[in-house]
Amino acid sequence: MAQRAKLDKEAVISLYKTGMMIHEVATQLHSSFYPIKRIIEEAGIKLHKGGNKKGYTPWNKGKPYLKLRGDKNPNWKGGVTLGQSQRRCHTIEYKNWKRALLERDGECKMCGSIKLLEAHHIVSHRECQGTEKEFDINNGIILCRRCHNTTKYKEHLFKDLLKSKL
Ligand SMILES: [Zn+2]
Repeated sequence: MAQRAKLDKEAVISLYKTGMMIHEVATQLHSSFYPIKRIIEEAGIKLHKGGNKKGYTPWNKGKPYLKLRGDKNPNWKGGVTLGQSQRRCHTIEYKNWKRALLERDGECKMCGSIKLLEAHHIVSHRECQGTEKEFDINNGIILCRRCHNTTKYKEHLFKDLLKSKL
């Protein structure tokens, strides 16, 4: 039987504060509804309202309609041209950076998974591309594909949480 990763309160709270609902946080952290709810209540955080979401301010309020961005939008190329993006994945610097992160972290630092591990830029790649931070080991962390997708276009919301795990 797969062992359930121990719940990280800080991760629960950070994820919840990004505007996720309890069940979404639970799915993300491979947990279930009630343990997550208890942590949020114990932390004294006001619960988001479900249902009609009246009075609930989504994290993306006032921001561009993100649902059409990312891989759901066939025209979205991740902010760089496909050529640049493909080249980046094949540079020696990128490979060395990812290898160093895998050796240091060895697992997803958000949920503990060891499957489909990817290298994540803590300061987003859009912001650090071409700077010394791009291949700085202190600006990278290993996440599984699912957690990595959770951070897409919300990198700034995860900065502090991920830095605390380095
Ligand atoms: Zn993960």
